[in-house]
Amino acid sequence: MTAPSPAQEPAGGSAAAPRRVVLASRNEGKLRELRRILAASGLPIEVVGLPAGPEVAETGTTFAENALIKARAAVAQTGLAAIADDSGLTVDELAGMPGVRSARWAGVREGSREDRDAANNALLLAQLDDVPAERRGAAFVCAAALVTPEGVERVVHGSLRGRLLTSGRGEGGFGYDPLFVADGETRTNAELTADEKDLISHRGRAMRELASAIAALPTAAG
Ligand code: IMP
Repeated sequence: MTAPSPAQEPAGGSAAAPRRVVLASRNEGKLRELRRILAASGLPIEVVGLPAGPEVAETGTTFAENALIKARAAVAQTGLAAIADDSGLTVDELAGMPGVRSARWAGVREGSREDRDAANNALLLAQLDDVPAERRGAAFVCAAALVTPEGVERVVHGSLRGRLLTSGRGEGGFGYDPLFVADGETRTNAELTADEKDLISHRGRAMRELASAIAALPTAAG
C-alpha cells in the first residue's frame, strides 16, 4: 500500500483552507451582505448561517453588549467561532435614541419587516417634525463581535454620520435608509447601490475591521 503523496496536499497544508465562522443571525440579507463585504476584502473566511435554534433575547443596553450576547450564544449552539453585529440609528435631537431600540422604535412587533420599517420611519419623522435641517444630525452605529470557542472576545465599532431628511427617498437598503443622507453625499442610503453602501456603512466598516481579526486568529483555534 502506498502512502498518500505529499504533492497532493495544498501548499502550506491547512493554510489554504478558509476559516469557517458562523454569523449569529437568521437574516438572509445580512448573511449575503457579510459575504459580499468579506469577498471584497479578499480574506479566506467562509461564513455560514445560524442553524435553527432558540431565539436569543437581546437584553443589553449597548450595541456591544447585544453583539456579544448573540455571538456567545452562537458559539454555544454551534461550537464554531461566531460573529454578530448589533446596529441602529442614533439621532442627535433625540439624545441618541432610537439606539438599541431602532428595530422596534414604533412598537410594532407584527407584520413584515417592511411594515415595521415604515412605522419606525413615520414615527421618527413625526418626532423631528419641527426640527430644522441644521439640527437633524444622526449616525448609524454598528458593534461587531467575534467570539471563539477558546474564549477570544473582540468587539469593534463602525459608524456613519449624516442627516435626516423630512421625507424618504429611494428603494434600496432597509430600515431608516430612505431618510438618511451620509456626510459628503447627496443621495440617501436607499439611493446608493449595495456596493456603494457597503463601502461607507457602519456595518461595512466594523465588519472589515473584524475580518482582519478573524484572519489573524491562530489556525488551531477552530
Ligand atoms: P440590526 O442590528 O441589524 O437588527 O438593526 C437594528 C435596526 O437598526 C434595524 O431594524 C434598522 O431599523 C436599523 N438599522 C441598522 N442598520 C441599518 C442600516 O444599514 N440602514 C437602515 N437602518 C438600519
